[in-house]
Amino acid sequence: MKHLDPMDYSNLRVDGHTHIFCWGENPKEGFLSRRTQKSIISKLLLQLSGIKKERGDTISEKIYNRLFKDLESTELDYIVLFAQDAIYKDGADIDYERTHFYVSNDYVLELAKRSDKIIPCTSINPMRKDSIRELDRVRDAGCKLVKIHTAIQGVSPDLPEFEAFYRHAAKIGITLIFHTGYEHSCQVVSQKFTDPKKLSRALDQGGNIIAAHCGTCAFWDKEDYYPHFIEMMHQYDNLYGDTAVMAGFVRLNACGKLAAESKSVTSRIIHGSDYPIPPSRIPHRKHVGLFPKYRKNLLDLDLNIKRAYNYGPRYENLILELIGFEI
Ligand SMILES: [Zn+2]
Repeated sequence: MKHLDPMDYSNLRVDGHTHIFCWGENPKEGFLSRRTQKSIISKLLLQLSGIKKERGDTISEKIYNRLFKDLESTELDYIVLFAQDAIYKDGADIDYERTHFYVSNDYVLELAKRSDKIIPCTSINPMRKDSIRELDRVRDAGCKLVKIHTAIQGVSPDLPEFEAFYRHAAKIGITLIFHTGYEHSCQVVSQKFTDPKKLSRALDQGGNIIAAHCGTCAFWDKEDYYPHFIEMMHQYDNLYGDTAVMAGFVRLNACGKLAAESKSVTSRIIHGSDYPIPPSRIPHRKHVGLFPKYRKNLLDLDLNIKRAYNYGPRYENLILELIGFEI
């Protein structure tokens, strides 16, 4: 396990996993494919989160305005905001046919300049020919977190050709975040890529790795990768997990199950919401009630639900230690 900074983060509250979406008015910033725009999940998300009623002429503007409004009122000190890299043709050009969800690194780096509360997490598909150069570029821009969306970006993380990328990330102090567990909100290349057991090659390079969603799947999925996540946590002390999307209805008992794990596991769990995907209040009503006062702000609602499960004293700020964040 790498460093852990002596700086005192104990009073800070951080959401380590949030998203911004771009509808596609300016594809350089980001876009959703036609198919994703029209999907039931997208429509449901816009409806449930109330984004449609937000100020703004375009859907992208509404999403943006909602994010910045929630940032104003949240009790959080910081959020980690994710970019989302594309699928590439021969590792060089964006494959617009196969890319269903894209948010550019430059857009997220720009948003981080507009708010002191935003910590950028860029995204690099390691199949890109310039993937290592892009690691250096984002690191030079001050970014220490990089997300790989295994299922959507078509990345099977165990491939030998990614080793140099993982080694370089570890060398320059970048924490890699991998999507784990079945993906439901967007078209995928393969769900098999989301198995936490496929993270060995990255973990063996010695850098810190975060398994987003702790390998959890929905109750109807034919597999559940959560047991594999726990196995890997016992095997590697440079592995961490985040709780993004785990307060949702489709992962009914996920928060409680995780809280019952040994301290060696729970002490490496990082708070994340998956904002703007809303958490569900009903399964957690015993902890937060059905109408908590903070329910209008999805960041705060998710934080308070998960806080009730007591993952340990570092849960809300551990991510700052991982990246050696300077206050
Ligand atoms: Zn997410």
